[in-house]
Amino acid sequence: MTSLTSLTISQALALMRAGDISARDLTEAHLQRIEAIDPSIGAYLTVTADLARQQAEAADEARAAGQDKPLLGIPIAIKDVLSTQGIETTCGSKILEGYRPIFDATAVARLYEAGAVMLGKLNMDEFAMGSSTENSAYFPARNPWNLERVPGGSSGGSAAAVAAEMALATLGSDTGGSIRQPASFCGLSAIKPSYGRVSRYGLIAYGSSFDQAGPFARTAEDVARVLGVIAGHDPLDSTSMPTAVPDYVAGLRGEIRGLRIGLPREYFAEGLQPDVAAAARAAAAQFESLGAELRELSFEHADYCLPAYYIIAMAEASANLARYDGVRFGARVEGADLIDTYKKTRGIGFGDEVKRRIMLGTYTLSAGYYDAYYGKAQAARTLIRQEFDAMFAQVDALLAPVAPATAFKFGEVTQDPMRMILADVLTISANLAGICGLSLPCGFDAAGLPIGLQLLGAPFTEERLLRLGQAYQSATDWHLRAPEFAG
Ligand code: GLN
Repeated sequence: MTSLTSLTISQALALMRAGDISARDLTEAHLQRIEAIDPSIGAYLTVTADLARQQAEAADEARAAGQDKPLLGIPIAIKDVLSTQGIETTCGSKILEGYRPIFDATAVARLYEAGAVMLGKLNMDEFAMGSSTENSAYFPARNPWNLERVPGGSSGGSAAAVAAEMALATLGSDTGGSIRQPASFCGLSAIKPSYGRVSRYGLIAYGSSFDQAGPFARTAEDVARVLGVIAGHDPLDSTSMPTAVPDYVAGLRGEIRGLRIGLPREYFAEGLQPDVAAAARAAAAQFESLGAELRELSFEHADYCLPAYYIIAMAEASANLARYDGVRFGARVEGADLIDTYKKTRGIGFGDEVKRRIMLGTYTLSAGYYDAYYGKAQAARTLIRQEFDAMFAQVDALLAPVAPATAFKFGEVTQDPMRMILADVLTISANLAGICGLSLPCGFDAAGLPIGLQLLGAPFTEERLLRLGQAYQSATDWHLRAPEFAG
């Protein structure tokens, strides 16, 4: 049998239901592996071994008593951007060091209710700002496929943990690509749900009009299982939509024949690493051979996405991060008076990238500049949204690479913030438009690093994207490859 840590959720559930393995075995195997290899990966900021053992025992007892739940006994871990009651939640920042929320994020509470076993909190770029996890205020996370490479970001810990077999699934968050890009760098399946699909209650805000939490796993089927648990309306988040949650797992069995897949020309333009473009095109051809219909189309406003996203995201961040004042949460550096305390706490507590964004965001929102920057960016956002509506009137999904290149080396891109920003060019449009995006492994480059494709869909069409993902994975085996490290 394959090792307990390399199972899919579907396999683990089947084995537990048959009584072949226990949640305790599964949890112990994961805790041991974390202890053995995480020192060289850096995926976890906090390991909650006691809680995991308690929950695993409760899961075994529940099963013995004849109960079953969608994730009963499945070991998972959570990006440190999601609040967890009584468990340190730092958001990758020193300013929240020692902060223990008094409540669970709704997505986390729903995982617990579904019987999941909590292994711990995962490393990330500070306040989810970044694309490599190098902005973590604690330590960088490493890519299990090559330890000299970044795992992507900002949910780098969430991706590295699944890829290195230190959790069967994890949650991350995606404001401009932070679920899809690390999934592609680490060879995983993951989804950024439509805005409003998953409650943001307890998800520490970066750009509130973009942020969505979503799952990382090995297969589209496992992603469907976790998404089904965390999705749905939440009275505690007024931006969560009351739209019914389909049975995503049942939906995987549907037909994909005749579905129209659009290839935006601008997303296959120059600047892509050649083997990334080739792998994405080969995936498109695979869909065609599965009965889908391909159409090339133009995304005319593609060039507006980067400036619009970075202006709005930084503006929202500058407002959201005003709450870290040394009075209410986390770290506090005592100053001569209140203002001095604010200054010292924020001066020491925030890292460079966070400070840069607070300053730029404050600038674009200030009187005299608001119309020129923030107002313009919002107008561009409306055009982008409208163009996606028009594209989704012609096609059922769009296909593109996730990132222009595969995982880069530490320090290679970090010294140049502009290059880091350019790496987000293919992902941020989905967040501007509030649409959903599924990331799937679709090949490897010459250096043996995973390549990812994304399927984008109109709001609340996750079921269709997952069905496409399932069809693709039943015809290919990219998602079954594991880094030798995990071997
Ligand atoms: N890299 C993008 C940023 O830094 C996206 C990050 C994210 O999705 N959280 O804003």
